[in-house]
Amino acid sequence: MASKSVAHLPNSYALSENAQTMRWSRYFIPTLREDPADAEVISHKLLLRAGVIRQLSAGIYSFLPLGQRIAIKVMQILREEMNAIGGQEFFLPALHPAEIWQESGRWYAIGDEMFRLKDRKGTDMVLGMTHEEVFTTIARSEIRSYKQLPQVWYQIQTKFRDEARPKSGLMRIRTFIMKDAYTFDVDRAGLDKSFIDQREAYKKIFTRCGLQFLIVEASSGAMGGSESNEFMAPSPAGEDVIVSCTNCDYAANLEKATSRLEAIADEPGPAVPEEFPTPGVRTIEDLTTFPGGADANRQIKSLVFIATIDGESRPVLVLLRGDHQLHETKLTDSLRATAVRPAHPDEIRELLGASAGSLGGVGAKNRSRDLRIVADSSLQNRRNMTTGANKDDHHLRGVDIARDIPVDEWFELRTVEAGEGCPRCETGTLEIFKGMEIGHIFKLGTKYSASMGATVLTQDGKEVPIVMGSYGIGVERIISAAVEQHHDDDGIIWPKSLAPFDVVVTITNMKQDDLRNAGEKLYEELQRAGFDVLLDDRDERAGVKFKDADLIGIPYRVTIGKKIADGMVELFDRSAKKSEDVRIGEVVAKLRQDRQD
Ligand SMILES: [Zn+2]
Repeated sequence: MASKSVAHLPNSYALSENAQTMRWSRYFIPTLREDPADAEVISHKLLLRAGVIRQLSAGIYSFLPLGQRIAIKVMQILREEMNAIGGQEFFLPALHPAEIWQESGRWYAIGDEMFRLKDRKGTDMVLGMTHEEVFTTIARSEIRSYKQLPQVWYQIQTKFRDEARPKSGLMRIRTFIMKDAYTFDVDRAGLDKSFIDQREAYKKIFTRCGLQFLIVEASSGAMGGSESNEFMAPSPAGEDVIVSCTNCDYAANLEKATSRLEAIADEPGPAVPEEFPTPGVRTIEDLTTFPGGADANRQIKSLVFIATIDGESRPVLVLLRGDHQLHETKLTDSLRATAVRPAHPDEIRELLGASAGSLGGVGAKNRSRDLRIVADSSLQNRRNMTTGANKDDHHLRGVDIARDIPVDEWFELRTVEAGEGCPRCETGTLEIFKGMEIGHIFKLGTKYSASMGATVLTQDGKEVPIVMGSYGIGVERIISAAVEQHHDDDGIIWPKSLAPFDVVVTITNMKQDDLRNAGEKLYEELQRAGFDVLLDDRDERAGVKFKDADLIGIPYRVTIGKKIADGMVELFDRSAKKSEDVRIGEVVAKLRQDRQD
């Protein structure tokens, strides 16, 4: 058995494996020559082609031996960095009684993404998406005093999420491995410190995994809580949209991003709004070209939504500048709703007496007392605006928003556009690009401890809810992001910390005794030195072996060929795509040197 606990290898891990099995001829690596037809993003194609994963069903994948090696390396990095900030590893069940999710309220707040099932007695059960409820259950029965806090608890475990449209290989899947951590503090100041500890640990984790990433402000969504940061790996395959400043460190998810807009100087308008006929005008665009109409940025866009708030459906009139687009997540978050949907045409007519093309905020509350009016901040103090008259084929002009529309609340609701000003600094402009979420950290506050009754006694003897944070990283997301960010036309280029093997020893011709003997000897030496080494002893042409090694992305290949007669081998660097001739006796020292650099 090879010794893997070699001190000079920072990422070495303790797999008890039989050295004799690391032979490609015996090892299960089913590589594919062609791109699979149903794979669209690069990481999906390459992970399939390299024999890392196989699909079982939509959004459900198996890790083959190479995939398992990579996942173990990721998990080891996660463990080391969690332990370094005082984390204690748990292992909680994936199957939960629905009861605890009912206590937290998430049984009702979360929709079809949650896997729900019944046991043989008919009791509702849940397959866990995260573990706030289970950890809170442990905390409430065991923790009584501030003296027992803070606690940092984590686990690495399988989670379930019934994605509506699983796709892109490992990027959006229905069962996945997650490292989830939870912190328990007596007060906000404690949470702030725990949150920073986790954020710093996350930076180290992603850096060690060889990923490029940014930290962005994000929506907390169904998790609740006061503040959250996402860790994003920029990638064209990403499903999230990131907004960042060209000048300062402002970065946010599009669903949270704000911008600084150029002020618009409005001419004073009439003393009261004037109604005018607009036959056939249905859209903002129509009104820009209609005689006596208005430019889009002088119009008010009026949208009716039905929001689910505290389990009840409530109508909301949403006002935006005509040239702006609503971001529905921002609306949901601002209203503290669990869901929003556009109102149906018949609901709109019942509320406002007109069809969608002729709506407006003026007089809206007279028609519908329960209607809540919310507006995007860019409309504040605007006057002489044009909007629908709540009468088919009629509009109003000369609308002064402060004077004419009883806005209940002002929010940031518009979708930010590239080129708008940065909300944090004076000079920067915003750019927009795609990214993959690889981690998300939340200040939960007392959302779970209050609803589930997890309290402690403070130093003054007061009973207070525990202040919590939760912190998640997806193992498959890290693996996908690594491939998205590190590949070329020939295949994957694994970051050295994640590579399934450090080095492959390729014997170019198995029929030649001298090559075979030299290869076997070097393979054993590298193993003794603590490297994860694969011996390509297949009875294949050298070209096939090189192509496969490039595809699966092992950082180094040592090629045992004709030059062995002079004691030389070829050392190929997969990332630099460069090779050099090296004395066979110097290979171990050279690779060791590289690991230390
Ligand atoms: Zn800025």
